[in-house]
Amino acid sequence: MLTYTSIRELRERLREWREANPKGKVGFVPTMGFLHEGHASLIERSRGENGLTVVSVFVNPLQFGPNEDFERYPRDPERDAAICGRAGADLLFAPDVREMYPKKTITKVLVEQLTDRLCGASRPGHFDGVGTVVSKLFHIVQPDRAYFGLKDAQQVAVIERMAEDLNLPVEIVPCPTVREPDGLALSSRNVYLTAEQREQAVVLNEALGKAEEWLAEPGIDAAGLRERIVAYIGRAPLAVIDYVEVLTYPDLQPPDSVAALHIGRGSRIIVALAVKFGGTRLIDNRIFG
Ligand code: AMP
Repeated sequence: MLTYTSIRELRERLREWREANPKGKVGFVPTMGFLHEGHASLIERSRGENGLTVVSVFVNPLQFGPNEDFERYPRDPERDAAICGRAGADLLFAPDVREMYPKKTITKVLVEQLTDRLCGASRPGHFDGVGTVVSKLFHIVQPDRAYFGLKDAQQVAVIERMAEDLNLPVEIVPCPTVREPDGLALSSRNVYLTAEQREQAVVLNEALGKAEEWLAEPGIDAAGLRERIVAYIGRAPLAVIDYVEVLTYPDLQPPDSVAALHIGRGSRIIVALAVKFGGTRLIDNRIFG
């Protein structure tokens, strides 16, 4: 695996590869590093479906709010390179902030509507930063396919819509959430949790499992489901709910009928959660139908 910090050098290498492999497909996995098995699963999938796999590691300041964890976001470039290599990446792109933003960026990619709810409501401007950096990375790498985890299901919906609206020549490939043996979704932020918080954090996945059972009940509505999930999460004394939402997916609208909640009938439904443990905000979701 080769590592690049320079956009020019990465582009040069990609140009050479495309010349030598005119029919070859390029797969791309954008990340913020501090990689875990969730990231590795995306890299392995890309490896299986493409001739060349590019992984980016870039902690994007544009998608962090002023009081968020940009400065203390965990970083471990050597371990990241080892995980990328092991998972089958061919090129690792790890630019610094100056390389990505040599000037203050005054051009942004904003996806409306999908971004004013869930994490977009809790983290104003977050998805503008995501849309902008992902479109920059797409222009740099020009992948045929790009791999995103459904752990960040709203992000998948936003990127898919951005690619569609802007006619970006890339296929967005959503990938399943990888979990710890006890069900907690893998996240780079899990390292922030104390032992006690970590133990209680399983309540997110448990609540989503319960939601699946409750969804099967005839007569359940979105508000009732939401209430039960909120009550269930309340069993974890350290959990502070940021949001619990039941919406259609991928358009993220309130479901308009009870029938829509019934799996297999009507549209897909997402149950999405954001819960804080101390200063650590965890998200999880499940999509039904
Ligand atoms: P991040 O480094 O958190 O920006 O994540 C980079 C990519 O990895 C995103 O597409 C995430 O959705 C995906 N990802 C993060 N955690 C997981 C997980 N537990 N399972 C699958 N994909 C994940």
